[in-house]
Amino acid sequence: VLILGTTVGIPQALLYYKYFPLWETFLKGLGAEVVVSHSTTKRMVNTGTAVAENELCLPVKVFYGHLLDLKDKADALFVPRVISVEKHSYTCPKFLGLPDLARASDSEMPAILDPVFNSRQSIRSFYSSLFEFGSSFTNKKSVILKAWFHAVNAQTAFQKRMELGATPLEAIEGINTPPIKSDLTIGIAGHPYNIYDPYISLNLINKLRHWGVNVVTTEMIPPHTLEREAERLPKRLFWSFEKDVVGSAFHWMRKGSVDGVVYVLSFACGPDSLIQVLLESEAKKCKDVPLMALVIDEHSGEAGMITRIEAFIDMLRWRKQS
Ligand code: SF4
Repeated sequence: VLILGTTVGIPQALLYYKYFPLWETFLKGLGAEVVVSHSTTKRMVNTGTAVAENELCLPVKVFYGHLLDLKDKADALFVPRVISVEKHSYTCPKFLGLPDLARASDSEMPAILDPVFNSRQSIRSFYSSLFEFGSSFTNKKSVILKAWFHAVNAQTAFQKRMELGATPLEAIEGINTPPIKSDLTIGIAGHPYNIYDPYISLNLINKLRHWGVNVVTTEMIPPHTLEREAERLPKRLFWSFEKDVVGSAFHWMRKGSVDGVVYVLSFACGPDSLIQVLLESEAKKCKDVPLMALVIDEHSGEAGMITRIEAFIDMLRWRKQS
């Protein structure tokens, strides 16, 4: 049993952008102190890339950088094994192996806390895994249950803030972001750890806002809408997060609610390559909403990205005017 007040580190990478309020509230409810890694820097990308297998996608390399950043700041690191977050779907296989990657990344890594999140298991098995994990902090089941229900409430509030137009970081920090009054709205689709990490995305969302563009993202659309849109595919997508990305882009294209869609994808990501094909095929059918794919890797440069985005915005404005 870990003692109360144990400092648990949460890497500010990968599913942090999806589940941080859930995880933080749960851990605090169990009596842990929570520390989060620094936001991504060039140095973290370099240290992560140096220890990671070369063929891994950029977000996983960045995740390594965050683990190393936390190594000396926490007694234990929280690296859950997220297998499935809804019935009939899985997450990317990389998420299943993260705790093992974390343990192997450095011989002096602190303890890795790796609760399993698997929606395909029964409710009974879920609660038994929850109690097993919580017993590392307390023997009282009531404390574990209370911490979990508070965590679920925090996650629901987080989801609602995003549906009102906040990015995950704004929702976490409690910043209200009223929509910009603009002649142009762009939908940004992609994995949250790519589009919201200011370093990885080269600060794409804030740059667009700075240029007077209204930005909407996948997380700002209610889950039932994403689900309904993704159901238009002839076969259900195997991966939950990718299904949401497809659902958001289909929603914008079909409704014509945005002037253009930017799809941000990682080099060396298998699921992203599949989504790209699906989105391009949909964009050909919905000719009114142009689609631009923006591939990012550890060598992506700001100047090249700015040129491409500016050209895309010019093209969208030209289309509107003509
Ligand atoms: S979905 Fe793609 S980018 Fe995300 S962890 Fe898996 S391989 Fe990497």
